[in-house]
Amino acid sequence: MARDKNKPNHGRKLKPESQMMSYGYRPEWSEGAIKCPVFQTSTFVFRSAEQGKAFFEVAYGIRQPRPDEKSGLIYSRINNPDLEILEDRLTLWDEAEDCAVFESGMGAITTAFLEFLKPGDLILTSAPLYGGTDHFLTTFLPKIGIEVMEFQPRQEEADIIRQLEASGKQDRLAMVYIETPANPTNALIDIGACKAIADKYSTKDKRVLVAVDNTYMGPLWQHPLKHGADLVLYSATKYIGGHSDVIAGACLGSMELIHRIKVLRTFLGNMAGPWTGWLLLRSLETLKVRMEQQAANAEKVAAWLTKHPKVEKVYYLGLLTPEDGQQYRIYKKQHNSPGAMMSFDIKGGGDAAGDERKAFQFLNRLKLIKLAVSLGSTESLAEHPATMTHIGVEEHHRALMNITAKLVRLSVGVEDYEDIIWDIEQALEAL
Ligand SMILES: *Cc1c(COP(=O)(O)O)cnc(C)c1O
Repeated sequence: MARDKNKPNHGRKLKPESQMMSYGYRPEWSEGAIKCPVFQTSTFVFRSAEQGKAFFEVAYGIRQPRPDEKSGLIYSRINNPDLEILEDRLTLWDEAEDCAVFESGMGAITTAFLEFLKPGDLILTSAPLYGGTDHFLTTFLPKIGIEVMEFQPRQEEADIIRQLEASGKQDRLAMVYIETPANPTNALIDIGACKAIADKYSTKDKRVLVAVDNTYMGPLWQHPLKHGADLVLYSATKYIGGHSDVIAGACLGSMELIHRIKVLRTFLGNMAGPWTGWLLLRSLETLKVRMEQQAANAEKVAAWLTKHPKVEKVYYLGLLTPEDGQQYRIYKKQHNSPGAMMSFDIKGGGDAAGDERKAFQFLNRLKLIKLAVSLGSTESLAEHPATMTHIGVEEHHRALMNITAKLVRLSVGVEDYEDIIWDIEQALEAL
């Protein structure tokens, strides 16, 4: 497909939300269809054998594409219009050069690890990480000789460097991989500081990469590439998909890095299918209105929670104040919204068992808010990190991160905020 995504639109730099309905697609390609159809096809016909050869050379990484050369449509494991248009549109939010879409967030994350890490390498990660990511890092990567080192939120740059140097493994550092805000308590990590650490251990022949899982905040509220990250990863299952009906992932960065990712994706075969691509194109049209409404609702819910006598503490970025020091500074630097994820401690049930009982009673009594993991969807979701999403986190680390039996996580949806508050109130009332 001859795409013209680089042409300025009507001589004006349009905002991403203005381009989500049209960017990268022209109706004349498809009988005038205003929407990009689902290209439910496995293979594409070449105009000539020479064209087929050129397409394969680029797709297999045998040569770099020439500056104005588009990768041609070959076969839907390599590329497909629904995926390519989706990738082009996703680049707009993060102002990334390129994007690769996957069949899941885990597909995107593991492909990035496999492409950029090799036996003998060290990967430095923040903690806690998403359970699936953590599992892959701690059970699979060591099998192929890749070592993992963790640092904790609130550790300062100098302290992380001390920890690295004390291990004697600093010269093997290949990637700094972080999730910020940390799930579920919203502890923030300074992307710029991670970039400084990566630069410190980069050499002439080896560039240490910074990769950020931006699922919690993206692609609207935090743009890691602007703060020095090399790769941004998403579970597109969350805000990007936004309707709890599709699993998908994405990786964004420079042309050079994403080209490598796409070549490996071709051989792992973990690209998203055309139907997933189409669903996400549809989701992207309302991404901004959904996310803004969710954040507006979350601010109201968080403010209300702080005043409730049965709520002990609320973890929400919008509640940070200058007294929070480093955390507040990172928030101001990295974020343009407090987002729509929060967690809160329900006032004590005496001991851990009592705390869990209270949290469970609360969750079981919710009527409108659904008791489910996942996040970022149109419907509000609540869950219990200690026994659900974070059950795999080591006890000691769970305590360090305030993931206790009394903690409940809330992903705020697009419902009327007074209805959300009503539901939380009636569930707390009953305790
Ligand atoms: C859900 C999630 C993932 C995994 O994504 P899938 O689409 O479920 O594979 C990774 N990171 C974070 C932060 C997530 O919330």
